[in-house]
Amino acid sequence: MASTLAKRPLRAAIIGAGMSGILAGIKLREAGIAFTIYEKAARAGGTWRENRYPGIACDVPSHHYCYSFAPNPEWSQRFSPGPEILAYFEQVAVTHEIDSRIRFNEEVVSAVYGGGEWRIKTARGHEETVDIVLCATGFLHHPVLPNIPGRDKFTGDAFHSARWDESVMLAGRRVGIIGTGSTAMQIVPAIVDTAAKVTMFQRTAQWVLPLPNVAYTEEEKAQFRAEPDSMTKLYATWLERFQNTISRAVVGDALEMSRLEAGCRENLEHNVHDPVLRAKLTPDYKVGCKRLIMSDIFYPAIQRPNAELVTSGIERIEPHGVRDREGNLHELDVLVYATGFNGHAFMRPMQVLGVEGKRLDDTWAQSNLTHRSMSVPGFPNFFMLVGPYSPIGNFSVILISELQLNYLQQLLAPLQRGDCRAIAPTFEATNAFLSELRGAMGNTVWATGCKSWYLDKTGSPEMWPFTFERFRDDMSRPRFEEYDLIH
Ligand code: NAP
Repeated sequence: MASTLAKRPLRAAIIGAGMSGILAGIKLREAGIAFTIYEKAARAGGTWRENRYPGIACDVPSHHYCYSFAPNPEWSQRFSPGPEILAYFEQVAVTHEIDSRIRFNEEVVSAVYGGGEWRIKTARGHEETVDIVLCATGFLHHPVLPNIPGRDKFTGDAFHSARWDESVMLAGRRVGIIGTGSTAMQIVPAIVDTAAKVTMFQRTAQWVLPLPNVAYTEEEKAQFRAEPDSMTKLYATWLERFQNTISRAVVGDALEMSRLEAGCRENLEHNVHDPVLRAKLTPDYKVGCKRLIMSDIFYPAIQRPNAELVTSGIERIEPHGVRDREGNLHELDVLVYATGFNGHAFMRPMQVLGVEGKRLDDTWAQSNLTHRSMSVPGFPNFFMLVGPYSPIGNFSVILISELQLNYLQQLLAPLQRGDCRAIAPTFEATNAFLSELRGAMGNTVWATGCKSWYLDKTGSPEMWPFTFERFRDDMSRPRFEEYDLIH
């Protein structure tokens, strides 16, 4: 069909300057789309900027937890620490001249659609009209504090793990940690040598797969610099390992699951010596139902003489510590809430109004309605990276984001050609997509009965229930029959 619209250069607002936002800038520029990145904070880096707790690292190997097109010979370790990862993202933003496109301290508070355009507004009152809104807002950035009686009574230092207070000294002090997620399991080994005592309050035990961290030698780094292809190979090797093991196990591959289970059980049996402690650390749900912990330092740390695991439950928080359900008071100087995040809010509290003023909050009132994790019917030219049902689990979100942007570049082509003014998924395609996902969710380990942040408010996993290969295929090209092209 001949185009009736004048070809026009497109403008996008990218929201968030974390891993996905920086990547989106690189990819939209490649596609010839002008953009501004709006960042609520004073610095880029997203989750790696916000989480500064001791021991922070990524449990995906660094030579895979990086952009596929930007290998980094300088990684210090197989699982490099958080500050190195933050520096990497900031460096990529500089190298690709994305940093100058970021408006810092500009939180987008609303995006309103009308006449084929989006009007966005920031908390500081800046407004811009754009063709495309691309939310790169992440999903683990709304810290959840536990609803435990007496939380406001504690007289020591207390903070959420994602709001770490560096001014608080830990040396020689009694530190309590509530939670046993990926965060808490990294904090305990990192502080056990410094603190006088570390008390971990466990509500639910975790499966732990030992994955040794090793430092790269100067010779290895020199070799990476001299032979960049060796990093590309390493990237592919780790990808293959993840996609053929954990990623298969969690979506129903019985053989891979039995291998994973054996690895976790063996780790527990060989590396936790006291049978009473071992029993306390033994989960009562399937491996992978909660996000698998990768660590060979947590078990040694929790067995240190100055570490204690409290499993009797928390009765209340008191001015001087935590009272457990057996009546014992655990006196503390510092209390850390490693109690996780609301992983389902995505770009909210931002107000998003689509066609005829329809609120995204209303569209998402029951569950996060999305087509292919990236768009929402009734919200034309509004896209998300690593949105609801994106493959997450123990997989690198960077590759997920790259594949989604590859899809998006193709999806935006009709807009760029001037064939349409806007594009939105049809309700039919969205419903078909979600019903296929929900139909498959029962085969996954996340639906086997444990509680985790993977579950949405209906109790259903908001996860990708198929293999990584299926996701890669789905993202290889858009099917335009799933979309309305709006003229
Ligand atoms: P999380 O996995 O949601 O863990 C929260 C912990 O707090 C759980 O152990 C939970 O217990 C406990 N908790 C919550 N409310 C409680 C209450 N009222 N009383 C007692 N315990 C309570 O949070 P997270 O550890 O911050 O990790 C979140 C996600 O961040 C991870 O799953 C992962 O995706 C990401 N992350 C990744 C890495 C990495 O290395 N790649 C590192 C850190 C975080 P229950 O289990 O009983 O609910």
